[in-house]
Amino acid sequence: MSELRRDPIIGRWVIISAERGKRPSDFAREAETPPGKGCPFCPGNEKLTPPEILAYGEPGRTRDSKGWWLRVIPNKYPALAVEGSLSRQGEGMYDKMNGIGAHEVIIETPDHSCEIPDMSDKQVEDVLWAYRDRIMDLKRDIRLEYILIFKNRGAAAGASLSHPHSQLIATPVVPKRVREEVNGAKNYYEYKERCGYCDIIKQELSTGQRVVAENENFIAVCPFASRFPFEVWVLPKAHESDFEDIQKYETVNLASLLKNVTGKMNRVLDTPPYNYLIHNSPLKEPRLPHYHWHIEIMPKLTRIAGFEWGSGFYINPVSPEEAAQFLREAD
Ligand code: ZN
Ligand code: ZN
Repeated sequence: MSELRRDPIIGRWVIISAERGKRPSDFAREAETPPGKGCPFCPGNEKLTPPEILAYGEPGRTRDSKGWWLRVIPNKYPALAVEGSLSRQGEGMYDKMNGIGAHEVIIETPDHSCEIPDMSDKQVEDVLWAYRDRIMDLKRDIRLEYILIFKNRGAAAGASLSHPHSQLIATPVVPKRVREEVNGAKNYYEYKERCGYCDIIKQELSTGQRVVAENENFIAVCPFASRFPFEVWVLPKAHESDFEDIQKYETVNLASLLKNVTGKMNRVLDTPPYNYLIHNSPLKEPRLPHYHWHIEIMPKLTRIAGFEWGSGFYINPVSPEEAAQFLREAD
């Protein structure tokens, strides 16, 4: 079982997942898997993955067989495991606990090489709906405090398999970065008596210079203080702190905006590797007036190097105004 260890000075938790059994030589670059035979996420290879947790597919289909258009499975090499107890304990000055949580993979499509911009609207809606389904299910586990859904696309962005998939990691603590964001939002709210993200949306819509795209329910912007070139945030226009409260009709508009934005990124940046993640409110803090869920999309164009690691500062060589204009005009 993996272990969660807390940095005693800044309070950051780290997952020590030594059982993944990496040897020093394993850290050399891993190649992406080709489609078909070797890919555990391709149809026909269902037996190569752990048994599925959820699937959307043809009626009457049997579990762990073909006929699905979306599948959710436990990660074969989970960073955190569902079984066991937390057993929080101290070791001298250090705090640690067992690596309890969940680590799942959402196989977004049976098609090995169909990325978000090329998927049907319905397929992307189903991906979003699967995120919601899994959050609803996992939030009943009282040991869990946070669920992060994210996607790594391309080897340079951390994907070891090229078949389109996202991941979900549920943790028994609220991650430090999320806590800082929720606290920052709370401070803003206490000072202004308004949600800071709602204010961002209002201001961005009025100036328009950092808006990439929008529709009835969602807006995509390059944030004012973008850390990375072409970083894009997607936010619901109405105040919502919990992603899982999303309605079916909203997934239609979110899917179309996601397809639009990732398609623009592909055209402007020649199909870059990227990460996206959903920042949602902590599980035990539902319906917050000060927090506003959003998706952060970060094409991997620059490397995080010494200055960034050492300072938490980022040097971004492209202004968000310029990035937004490129993306806006790419059709
Ligand atoms: Zn595949
Ligand atoms: Zn808001």
